[in-house]
Amino acid sequence: MSTRPNTTEASLNSDALFLRAKKVSPGGVHSPVRSFKGMDRAPVFFARAEGPYLWSVEGQRYIDFCQSFGPLILGHRDSEVASAVHEMIDTAWSFGACEPYSLELAEYLTKDLPWLQKLRFVSSGTEAVMSALRVARAATKRRFVLKFDGCYHGHVDSLLVKSGSGLAGEATSSSAGISDAVAGETLVVSLDDDAGLESVFRTHGQQIAAVIIEPLPANYGLLKQREDFLRSVANQAKKVGALLIFDEVISGFRVAKGGMAARLGLHPDLVTYGKIIGGGFPVGCYGGRADLMDLVAPLGPVYQAGTLSANPVGMRAGLRTLQKMDRVDGWNVLEKRTTKFAEQLNIGFAKVKLPFFVDHYASLFWIRSAGPEIRRIEQIPALQAKNFKTLFLAALEKGVYLAPNAFEVGFVSLAHTDEILDQAAKIILAVAQEKMGRENLA
Ligand code: PMP
Repeated sequence: MSTRPNTTEASLNSDALFLRAKKVSPGGVHSPVRSFKGMDRAPVFFARAEGPYLWSVEGQRYIDFCQSFGPLILGHRDSEVASAVHEMIDTAWSFGACEPYSLELAEYLTKDLPWLQKLRFVSSGTEAVMSALRVARAATKRRFVLKFDGCYHGHVDSLLVKSGSGLAGEATSSSAGISDAVAGETLVVSLDDDAGLESVFRTHGQQIAAVIIEPLPANYGLLKQREDFLRSVANQAKKVGALLIFDEVISGFRVAKGGMAARLGLHPDLVTYGKIIGGGFPVGCYGGRADLMDLVAPLGPVYQAGTLSANPVGMRAGLRTLQKMDRVDGWNVLEKRTTKFAEQLNIGFAKVKLPFFVDHYASLFWIRSAGPEIRRIEQIPALQAKNFKTLFLAALEKGVYLAPNAFEVGFVSLAHTDEILDQAAKIILAVAQEKMGRENLA
């Protein structure tokens, strides 16, 4: 049976499909970044994928550094994951009842991660975060949640906020449709801001239910934090009786099996995962201390449910993905490859004085404007959007697909061999030199 899109040959081009899509969906997309907004061109429509590659509907091949924004740590359509998925589909694809598939993944996830005593599967990172906040408020009977500017936690109403006026931690919503009352339940401080953090804890400490942070902020560039800052967040939360929530939807099972919690040796009270644990299918989870998770229905008073929660196809894809990562020492391999790739780019950019620098951590990288280290969003140079756009468009032309936004990170998968990474680095360096070299050397 054909898996080709149900469309006529004549309309199999991205521009025509985008025109059609805009008639039936806002901006033609189902998640905003996909629209290539600010990139001065219509998005590419992709028809298929394999390993490190994507193919557009026109048949053009791209080396893919977006990898569905992180879930595909083995690359597209890994053969082992594909067999697990096919086997599951041949067995059942939804029960809405008890089954052993989610149990196996839950046991696998909790086995080596001491802070993850119990967990609940949901269908997205957003749902995981929303539910973890509910548990935190129920457990502490407190009102506020503290978040950091530049961390993204999905489109949970109360977390779509940014720093407001000068008052300690005050937030304003960053999306229309969120009431002041809801935005007012969240406090916001800058990343890497010891004084701001202390001030918020001093003013509101006793009313803070939870502090939520991406321990490796990777949604507004890659804003690697000082370890002592992260430890200070954890210590201050503990001191006032607030829960620490690590949002590891990106970093969990990517930077190491135990994510940043393992790398830092810092154990959160609650944690959220997504992306990799579903192997490319819609899976998220929240979990943590057993006493907190036991507050969740049917055991406790915190209501949370889901028709497709723990969908067996996602459970099997996630389990097989993680088992393979374990077996092939995937995290080490990826870190080595990504480091080499980033260094190759940085040496190349520096050699001809191009205005770019690659920050990297494990298998994540961010191509940013050259300059001093960036730990907060205010430090991102104003030229980032313009410079990245130039590079993005030129790389796309030559078959390298970066996420279509200057503030998104890149993801390396196990399907990106050293040879493919070398090829991609050479393309990126060549187009950067061609587009920006002359003006930069002037
Ligand atoms: N938290 C973090 C750290 C994320 O990066 C994301 C998504 N990029 C989310 C939560 C939300 O996940 P989802 O898109 O699956 O709702």
